Amino acid sequence: IQKIGVYTSGGDAPGMNAAIRAVVRVGISQKLEVYGIHNGYVGMIENKIEPLQLRDMANIIQRGGTILKTGRSTEFMRPEGRARAAQNIKNLGLDALVCIGGDGSFRGAHALWEEHQIPVVGVPGTIDNDIFGSDKTIGFDTAVNTALEAIDRIRDTAASHDRLFIVEVMGRNSGFIASHVGLAGGAEEIFTPDANTTVEKAIDRINEAKSRGKTSSIIITAEGQKPGRAYDLADAIRKKSGMDAKVCILGHQQRGGSPTAADRILASRMGAAAVDALFKGYCDVMIGTEGERLIQVPLDLVYKNEKKNQLDLISLASVLAT
Ligand code: ADP
Repeated sequence: IQKIGVYTSGGDAPGMNAAIRAVVRVGISQKLEVYGIHNGYVGMIENKIEPLQLRDMANIIQRGGTILKTGRSTEFMRPEGRARAAQNIKNLGLDALVCIGGDGSFRGAHALWEEHQIPVVGVPGTIDNDIFGSDKTIGFDTAVNTALEAIDRIRDTAASHDRLFIVEVMGRNSGFIASHVGLAGGAEEIFTPDANTTVEKAIDRINEAKSRGKTSSIIITAEGQKPGRAYDLADAIRKKSGMDAKVCILGHQQRGGSPTAADRILASRMGAAAVDALFKGYCDVMIGTEGERLIQVPLDLVYKNEKKNQLDLISLASVLAT
């Protein structure tokens, strides 16, 4: 291979820049030409593709977001859209691509290989950590730390006023951020789509804690938690127990910010491994982690399977917050 392209797609995550930097600098050090595709599949269809140089990567490892911008494309969901994108890649003579994104982006990458024989290697970038085949995704550690910082502040005010707080964290339909932040932040109760926490159990536990002299509590809930989100949960607790809860929705601040050291290191290793994999002729795979080790997982396995949350973290949090 002589020319490769790199793009970020779907939800942005802190550390994506560190991954782009690794792809570009490892690629160039191996005598490749590296092109940046802007706005994910949107730019691939609109031919917003430019060569990247070593110096373009200066000063980006510490920056959140993605310098290549990301995007969502409905056109790319159709075969005609993908054909246009593939034609642009072929016209430029790109031999292979690195896709930094989540499940949806990998579906698209797999289709590029199946339909147009364009080799793609995936790198998992999402704050949600909900990617099968990788213990950790780029951006998760930063998002957990950002949420934790907010919770520590909320704890100060909760303790000063003897209050119950319900804090809603991101994570779409998964509860990874909630379970990690809950344990690290000493939450009294954690609600996620897959945990079996109930409003009744939460009320009982808070009352028990009160009887032992505890005056403030924090409940963490994941945004995808069914049936309700933070305000519904506060309503349900109020109706069943008369307890008043303050609600705090952390929202998009969890997506931004400078990536933690862990995310920069993960992104650098994964970006380098993606280029290495392309050199060795691998494609249609994602670079994942198993413990500290980097592994390769077929892309279709990645998006066809659901990653299970570590519910043991939730039970441990529950034992520790007494
Ligand atoms: P993420 O990669 O973070 O999961 P999305 O689910 O929004 O984000 O996917 C990003 C983009 O990938 C979509 O806007 C679309 O262009 C493309 N994509 C998603 N699903 C498919 C699919 N089944 N086939 C082809 N392209 C897809």
